[in-house]
Formats: sequence, structure tokens, C-alpha cells
Amino acid sequence: MAIAIGVDLGGSNLRIAAIRVADGALVAHHREPVGEPRDPDTIVRRLVAVIERMRAEAKLEAEAVVPVGIGLAAMLRDTAGTVANSPHLRWRDVPFGRLLAAALGGRARLGVYNDVNAIAYGEQVHGAARGVADVLLVFVGTGIGAGVIAGGRLVEGASSCAGELGHAKVVWGADAAPCACGGRGCVEAYIGGSYVQARARRELAAGARSIATRDTAIDAITPGDVDRAAAAGDAWALGLWAELAPLLGVTLANAIAVLNPARLVLGGGMLGRTQVLRAQVIAALHALAPAASLEPLTVADAILGDDAGLVGAALLADAGVSIIC
Ligand SMILES: [Zn+2]
Repeated sequence: MAIAIGVDLGGSNLRIAAIRVADGALVAHHREPVGEPRDPDTIVRRLVAVIERMRAEAKLEAEAVVPVGIGLAAMLRDTAGTVANSPHLRWRDVPFGRLLAAALGGRARLGVYNDVNAIAYGEQVHGAARGVADVLLVFVGTGIGAGVIAGGRLVEGASSCAGELGHAKVVWGADAAPCACGGRGCVEAYIGGSYVQARARRELAAGARSIATRDTAIDAITPGDVDRAAAAGDAWALGLWAELAPLLGVTLANAIAVLNPARLVLGGGMLGRTQVLRAQVIAALHALAPAASLEPLTVADAILGDDAGLVGAALLADAGVSIIC
């Protein structure tokens, strides 16, 4: 029974699992908060400890060389796991892959991947795009991430930055909204969940009238509340969605024009709780993408949930994609 180890290192949780390669099942699983401190040396030391623990729980032989795939919430710089920037971990220019490879001492076949790229691969092998060779996966959570599968292979790009669709520009110039990446006018800065939430609360606090505030205090309003108001015909909520939905719609349409995927997989907490917005985004992408590119396209929801990143990272390492050592 082939086993690979997958790690999902996000801003809140460190999750690790031993994955059965044949079907993506979790044989053993562990979760702990990332917590503090979260400097690279501390995180590497903790990762070595949890990987050892997982090897023991999965009953792997002491000398076995195991595929270990890490899905990281970070913008990478190369296929050696160098982190250019991770706002979640507060890392900049960290040779993470090299540090971890040295600490593991040759008992792993290590690969480090962008977390959403790992999710895309997991969904393509065992999830919502199983058996589909050309896939675009887009996750809209607090921010926006994407992963591209072309011809059955994960597209990492020349410096592992492929799929950074959240930072595609939809507005430019001095008035464009600032983004966590340091740029301005990124689609994420308009329709990422944390930005939508902040904007909704700001507009309501400034006097916008909406039924969204009938049962919920302004400083507790979420994108889900805005969507429920929109579903009930609230003019302010519908106006906000009418402005934001085309921004993501055009971003997806342009990506579809380039990639010609057969399946668009959507996921993430933001779109999961905003059915009106989600429908408007899909309507916008159908209106804006080239008709010929749309012909083969089906839209599906991600189905592996929180496990997708773990499973995808493990399977990428097992498949020998961008192995560091
Ligand atoms: Zn950005």
C-alpha cells in the first residue's frame, strides 16, 4: 500500500496526514494551531517532529524514503520551495524548501507547493474534476487563489507563480483598492471575503440603508448576510453585488480565454455562503468569455473540502512533481 505524507500549512492551522495514494484516503491525521512563534526555524523544527509522528502512525519502516508534499499559503519564487512572500506566516524571502530538506536528512522525497495548486491537483485526481485533463480551480475565501491543470499536469509556471489569479488587475490608477500583496486593483481586493466584509461594514456604518442590519449589528455583518439581503431584494446589497460580480466574472472569463478548461471548479468559504453572488459571477463569465472557449466548460463545486490541500500535496510529491531532494 503506497503511502505519501501531505502537509497543509496555512495561516491558522498546521495539518498533516498520511495519505493512501490509490484513493486519497487519510490513513492518519493530525492538526494543531500554527500559533506563535512562526519564524521559519521554529516551523521547520515542528514540521520534522509531526512528519516523524506521522511516519510512526502510518507504520512506515524507519529507513523508508517517503514522498512528503507541503501545501503552503504563500507566493513562491521557484520550485525549490523558496517563499517570496507569505502574509499569513509573515515570511519574506525564506528558503523554506532548502531548510526543511536539510532538516529531514534524506528520508523524504520533498516537494513544496502553493496551497491552492495542491488543492487543484487533489480535486483533479480524486475530487470534482476527476478524470478531466484541463481544469481551472478558483477558491474565493478571505482572498482568492487558483490552480491550473493543463493536459493532466499541474501548471506551476516559470517561478511557481502560475494561478495567482487573485492578483489579476481589474482596476488601475491611483483610486484602485490596495491589496495585501502590496499592489493595487487586484480582483481579490474587491471580492475576497475579508475585503467584502470590511467594505460592507464601512458602507453601512456610513449610513447605507439595508435589511442586512435588521437582525445583525453592523460590526458583525458578513458577506453571507449581504447575500441573504440580496436574495430578499435589498437594493444596497444588490447594488454591491452588481458592482463586484462582473469583476470576478471578467477575471474568470479572461482566464478561460487563455486556458480553455473543460471544468471550472469553484470553492472557498466566500462563494460557498453567497449563492446570489455566485450565480451572478457565473452569469458574468458566460457573458464575457469567448463563446468557443465556453463550449466544453462545466462548472462544479469543490468536493474534497478541507482535505484537498493535504491530499493534493501528498499526491504531487508521490508523482515526483518538483521534488527538492
Ligand atoms: Zn494583490
